[in-house]
Amino acid sequence: MKESSVPAAQVVGRYRVIPIIQEQAMANISTAKATPAIQHEVGLPGALVADWHDKAISRLGTLLKERRGLQVFMDSCTKCGACTDKCHYFLGTGDPLNMPVARQDLLRSVYRRHFTFAGKWFPKLVGARELDKPMLEDWYRYFHQCSECRRCTVFCPKGIDTSEVTMAGRDILASIGIGQQYSQEIIAKVNRVGNNLGMKKPALIDVLDNLAEDISDDTGLAIRIPLDDASADMLIVTPSADFFAEPHVDGLIGMIKVLHVAGIRYTFSSQASEAANFALFTGQRDQMQGIAQRISTAAQALGVSRIVMGECGHAWRVAYSFMDTLVGGFDYLDPEHPRPEHICELTYELLKAGRIQLDPTRNDGKVVTFHDSCNVARGSGMGGIRRGQFIVPRALLKASVPEIIEMSSDATMQKTFCCGGGGGLLTDDLMELRIKGALPRAQALQAVVDSHGVTHLVAICAICKTQLSQVLPHHNLGDVQVTSLHELVGNAIIL
Ligand code: SF4
Ligand code: SF4
Repeated sequence: MKESSVPAAQVVGRYRVIPIIQEQAMANISTAKATPAIQHEVGLPGALVADWHDKAISRLGTLLKERRGLQVFMDSCTKCGACTDKCHYFLGTGDPLNMPVARQDLLRSVYRRHFTFAGKWFPKLVGARELDKPMLEDWYRYFHQCSECRRCTVFCPKGIDTSEVTMAGRDILASIGIGQQYSQEIIAKVNRVGNNLGMKKPALIDVLDNLAEDISDDTGLAIRIPLDDASADMLIVTPSADFFAEPHVDGLIGMIKVLHVAGIRYTFSSQASEAANFALFTGQRDQMQGIAQRISTAAQALGVSRIVMGECGHAWRVAYSFMDTLVGGFDYLDPEHPRPEHICELTYELLKAGRIQLDPTRNDGKVVTFHDSCNVARGSGMGGIRRGQFIVPRALLKASVPEIIEMSSDATMQKTFCCGGGGGLLTDDLMELRIKGALPRAQALQAVVDSHGVTHLVAICAICKTQLSQVLPHHNLGDVQVTSLHELVGNAIIL
């Protein structure tokens, strides 16, 4: 890791560190606020409204009624301290406001001031605080230093979900005119065009045709990648990064080989060409509903009976946990597949049914480890199997590569560390935070590189893949190749 990025720390064991507290260490880090044009485009005020205080408190009151969990989270923290050293941003920066309990208290102290008897009459006694301008700035800074990964929740005896607190904080900020440029711009582009990249249908046709040509040249197979094909049985919705960016595109090639070999009649859609749903990150349920609806509307228009999401962590969490409620059900889908699925579930099903065969020797020389993505690991199941979100991708890897090396148990599966770029933080203006937040993941990876010579870090989330490719070199791990799971499946598949 570059020297400037190393937080002062007490070393515990060989790789784990507990940072020495550095007050205000990240107080100068803040992501760009949305421009008036973008705010207006997503139906929000263009700048901080004049009566921002009253509007913010009113919005908090609405969220407390709408999201009953939020009310419980506000009231139930016992300050036990179990979560304090569980956040990768605290471990990587030492800033005490990046402790999950401190992050929650930014909202909780204001909640106490305005929504509890004791907070109204004895504010100092109960740690109640007013929402003033400095507090508003702290909200903006530190609610954008949380990737909503929910690792802290795993360790909280009360099950308090900091990601819900962060979402509420961001929702209130956006509602009074201070949205985040990065996420709001992406939401606007999806509403306008259908994907995060703003890629219109002619560009999409070109990209898919070129990709089909490349795969045909490489394999000798007659590959066609359908778009808006009304005769298809299955709609594939993948992160738009898959269409051309490295290392994602090789994963998409692997997916297409799987679909081709299994003889599935699938299609992409120009109306729903994005799996990501950034409104999960901003907490805006109306926007999340709108983006989810695009997918359901496209599926019904095409008459498909299955919807399969590509390698995207939070898209999978939205599909698994929220989409049914957001779009009013999926009674038009095949009763055996009554909700959107993850591409790993489909590939696993095809492998078990003998419809595809994988030869792990085709990945000889690769020593791989698997990065569990937060939103899959802590946001959903998979394949109808208990703990399937851990079992299914590992089963595919096991069939595709000679050997898998697991990282330590406090950095995998349910306790996996975030890549450091999730939750709407994958933006250049947060690069320092992203590098520091990746420290725990990098340390766990370094251990298996040292012990087993790991060469490849495999992930099933577009954000994880982009983030880790960019930040691992800052931790002296630039030689480890960040790889899509379906790239390895695509190498191993017998055509
Ligand atoms: S949800 Fe993740 S990023 Fe946010 S405070 Fe908890 S551990 Fe940190
Ligand atoms: S672990 Fe839960 S109850 Fe304990 S301090 Fe953290 S949020 Fe509060």
